[in-house]
Amino acid sequence: MQRTIAEKISCTGIGLHSGEPVQLTLHPARADSGVVFVRTDLREPVDVPAVHTAVTSTRLATTLGRADATVGTVEHLLAALVGLGIDNVRVEVDGPEIPVMDGSSASFVFLVRAAGVFEQDAPRRILRIRRPLEVRDGDRAIRIEPAKGLRVSYAVDFAHPAIGRQQIRDLVVDGESFEQEICRARTFGFLREVEVLWRNGLARGGNLDNTVVLDDYRVLNRDGLRWPDEFVRHKVLDLLGDLALLGMPVEGHVTVERGGHALHQRFVRALLDQPDYWTIESQLVPARRPARARRATGVRASA
Ligand SMILES: [Zn+2]
Repeated sequence: MQRTIAEKISCTGIGLHSGEPVQLTLHPARADSGVVFVRTDLREPVDVPAVHTAVTSTRLATTLGRADATVGTVEHLLAALVGLGIDNVRVEVDGPEIPVMDGSSASFVFLVRAAGVFEQDAPRRILRIRRPLEVRDGDRAIRIEPAKGLRVSYAVDFAHPAIGRQQIRDLVVDGESFEQEICRARTFGFLREVEVLWRNGLARGGNLDNTVVLDDYRVLNRDGLRWPDEFVRHKVLDLLGDLALLGMPVEGHVTVERGGHALHQRFVRALLDQPDYWTIESQLVPARRPARARRATGVRASA
């Protein structure tokens, strides 16, 4: 069944771009409404749905927009909602971006857990992959093939002594694996690039409390990494946030080689543009099907 949160809940943090304080409130939302962002600081609030057609920029972070309303840095919140199997929520924010918190999804998972999850009286619809689809860009690639539930394999390869090649193989994405393995992985950046951003007045909220920063040799954060392969784990987190823009949960095995937001988004567009690669299925199980089929078709991604 579709899920929302049981009650509204708020937090405050700073915006990655602006460095300014911003308040975020998650509200329960009705079935089939999806994830919708609302800027409460605008004179006329506009609903901005979390769908790929609303993406206006992927520079630094994913920005969604409609009319004059834009909401930036949505990906780590969306990853938490995908990871925890939340279908419908209204996200109010009183500024142009979702707070960056600690650069991971951990705070958003905490918020959802604190609010509680509410199962709704409507079947969940999922995008089920029927045939493999691959999007390539030089040595970067992303491929999806049919599988039960959502599975992710991811590899990054950075010519940097603290990163190198890191790989996650066949992670079954559910609430438990997301919380244990993925949600605390922070965003990362290289000092050279961060300095350029700062000089251009960008990423003003970015600092060592919300970004893993590397110079040419090592990690600069005093407490180091949360896992030796935190980098590839964060890439999985980013992927899940980008897959949220499909507008519904997807069932398939996604394999990514050296991905990033731009490639993830290209993949989401390519997939939605080619309906012969997937079907939309309701997870409501017909009464005549045996109970075994119910377990097989459904609850894995939302467990
Ligand atoms: Zn990220």
